Amino acid sequence: MFFGNEGGRPCLPEEARSWTWEGGPAWFSTADRPVPACEPVLAPHSKVRCPRCVRRVLRLSWQVFADGGRHLRCDCVACGALVKYIKPDPWTNPDVEFRAAGACGH
Ligand SMILES: [Zn+2]
Repeated sequence: MFFGNEGGRPCLPEEARSWTWEGGPAWFSTADRPVPACEPVLAPHSKVRCPRCVRRVLRLSWQVFADGGRHLRCDCVACGALVKYIKPDPWTNPDVEFRAAGACGH
């Protein structure tokens, strides 16, 4: 799924003014169609790997720190290692994509 902010640049879902999905017929305004539930995933072209087991079975999840800041952490599903915290903004990090929550696989 893709999200655009007021200026039309890629952004996080909660900042979106318009959105669509890959192969979607058009961009939808969030005023007409609210952004559906979605979750962050690593893009298929991402080079992020687990440093411990070198697998690429990685899961992204939001974690809220004590200071209230929200961070996107990347865990290895295979061995459970915390791989790293990654920047969630799709404008600065092309490794992150969003897909509809509950959708299975790529
Ligand atoms: Zn691992």
